[in-house]
Amino acid sequence: MSFTMTSKDYVAYIKMAAKKIHDNGDYISELDATTGDGDHWANINMGFENLVAAGDEMEAMPICDVFKKIGMLMMSKIGGSSGVLYGGAYMAAAKAVAGKATIDSQDLCLVLETMVNDMMTRGKAQPGYKTMIDSLYPAAQTYKACLERGDSDKDTMAAVKKAAMDGAEETKKMEAVKGRASYQANKGVGHLDPGAVTMSYQLECLCDYVSENLL
Ligand code: ADP
Ligand code: MG
Repeated sequence: MSFTMTSKDYVAYIKMAAKKIHDNGDYISELDATTGDGDHWANINMGFENLVAAGDEMEAMPICDVFKKIGMLMMSKIGGSSGVLYGGAYMAAAKAVAGKATIDSQDLCLVLETMVNDMMTRGKAQPGYKTMIDSLYPAAQTYKACLERGDSDKDTMAAVKKAAMDGAEETKKMEAVKGRASYQANKGVGHLDPGAVTMSYQLECLCDYVSENLL
């Protein structure tokens, strides 16, 4: 069982995620003002605005080049740690699916796995460090497990979405090891990590998009 995701689909998903991020501006800014320097929403929102603006151009590319373009835009348009981490992760994903015009479910799983591995290496971070990795890592692990078990695509998308959202929620009780929250006396304990929340928004939109449009 699988599905085919085209560049057009990926751009449509990016537009969904851009709206979700845009609509939660005050909430995310408040989260980052509490444990960081308050700019996370402005950073990521600016990045997604640039991705949406490049939408028409990206729709016409093979999906491997879409990932490369997203990586370059995120690297150059998003300030702060997130720009470098998302930029590097998307460029690594482009290499993982090099030559592919479209991707299937196995490829999408590989993309998420490649992204989280790149983020962990680049950011010198592990799961449990109270970062965006705490949403993406369980999502990628769950996706892999579902594929190995041969779960239906509907069940897989629902499980990946839940893992991403639960993972972000888990950051509330974590002590930050990386990122600005680690500079705080209480290491951010009791507060959600903003980067994990915006990561979970993206994964939520991705799973919903696939489930509602490709299955
Ligand atoms: P900055 O911390 O430079 O102000 P942002 O505000 O854009 O950057 O992003 C903050 C988010 O980046 C954090 O909430 C966290 O999820 C993530 N983050 C920060 N440092 C790291 C790291 N070393 N590895 C993974 N994620 C990180
Ligand atoms: Mg910040």
